[in-house]
Amino acid sequence: MIDAHTHVFPDEIVKNPARYFSLDSEFELLYSKPGTRIDNGDQLIQSMKNSKISKSIACGFGWASNELCVLGNNAIISLVNKEPEKIIGFGTVSFAESFEDGLAEIHRLSKQGIRGIGEIRAEKQGFFNITDEEYDKLAETLIENKLILLLHVSEPVGHQYPGKKGAKLEFIEALLIKLEGVNMILAHGGGGLPFYSYMPEVRDYLDKVWFDTAAFPFLYDNDILRGLISTVGSDKIIFGSDFPLMPQEKVISYIEGSSIDQDDKTKIFCDNLNDLLENNTFVG
Ligand SMILES: [Zn+2]
Repeated sequence: MIDAHTHVFPDEIVKNPARYFSLDSEFELLYSKPGTRIDNGDQLIQSMKNSKISKSIACGFGWASNELCVLGNNAIISLVNKEPEKIIGFGTVSFAESFEDGLAEIHRLSKQGIRGIGEIRAEKQGFFNITDEEYDKLAETLIENKLILLLHVSEPVGHQYPGKKGAKLEFIEALLIKLEGVNMILAHGGGGLPFYSYMPEVRDYLDKVWFDTAAFPFLYDNDILRGLISTVGSDKIIFGSDFPLMPQEKVISYIEGSSIDQDDKTKIFCDNLNDLLENNTFVG
């Protein structure tokens, strides 16, 4: 079993998250509620052991400032070096301050064995506000370095929750078109985008797009898995939890408890992400 979507923070932020609230309002929004879990990787490794998960993609947080991105990325790189068999590292970058600095960080991450960029909060990290030339450069860099892009997407309808705003489907669509050719995972089932795949023009740009199940028990009945299979197919759905905000075992039993075929569950829990990572292996 591989979890495509977990979050890990540097020790200094885990020890004193409040110190960082004033530096990033969204971090405050998501992590200031008493009892919110925040992890430096120790809880993740323990949870993986308990839930029999062999590997997890560890993401940091979608910071707006490049300096905080680098701080978070260094913690991911250390964790990968400490647990290379268990952790697949994803780094994060922001173009909110400077496109060139963000791009340089992608090159640094790639050299450090990082396999993807995300979970990106596209609006606050400046991904909606770069020039066409910069989009081309970004796509080229991600493809050349065999990096997967994991984007946060939320539903345009339904109940409100912290972090729901800021990833409008129409902006995400524009991003998918600009970054065509990049392997992407859209978090949280892509905010319902799979259901538009009956439109041929939408289907066209979903070729290299996968959808994860992060936080699904908080969002949808588990019948959504049948809906996703009928819209984009079981090859495009990837198990992700959103740990530590959502316990890994909770998402596992949610998928296990759904009425989809065992073969499809195996694809979702393991095969699809394995194939994606293997096909995306950097041969330098
Ligand atoms: Zn998310």
